[in-house]
Amino acid sequence: MTERPEQVVSVPDLPTEFSEIEMRCAACKTIWSAPVARRVNVATHPDARYGILLKTIHWTRCPLCKEPRQIETIFEYFDPEQRLLIQVRPDWEIHAGGGEDWYWARYEDLVLKYRDVDVRVDVVFGLDELIAKYLGGEEAVAAARNWWEQRRREQGQS
Ligand SMILES: [Zn+2]
Repeated sequence: MTERPEQVVSVPDLPTEFSEIEMRCAACKTIWSAPVARRVNVATHPDARYGILLKTIHWTRCPLCKEPRQIETIFEYFDPEQRLLIQVRPDWEIHAGGGEDWYWARYEDLVLKYRDVDVRVDVVFGLDELIAKYLGGEEAVAAARNWWEQRRREQGQS
């Protein structure tokens, strides 16, 4: 009988990664670079979870006319505790006609990308789907709003 080596279960190390994206203001044509998260590790960056629940993630502002602009980007949500990695894609993609085939194709790409990492993967379209499927839905959103209000009050007092 061969002895099986003791399996060491370690949490995969997939750090938060940022990148920059070039933005152009529709109103005044100013061009600027905005930071975007390519992958968020919510163990090391718990604020990202709130950013998703409150939908403040991936917004930028024109440096000249201050017009807020949403950054459309694809990013990965990684929760090491749950060994869960979700690719978040724009929600219009699924309405643009691809349907389930599009989902499965993106899902297979993601499985391949992380085949050597011990995580569950999934693909969602839009923050609403991510929140509903994996982040606790409306209850979690309400809790995040309370947290945000409380933090604002505390900061107002200091
Ligand atoms: Zn502008």
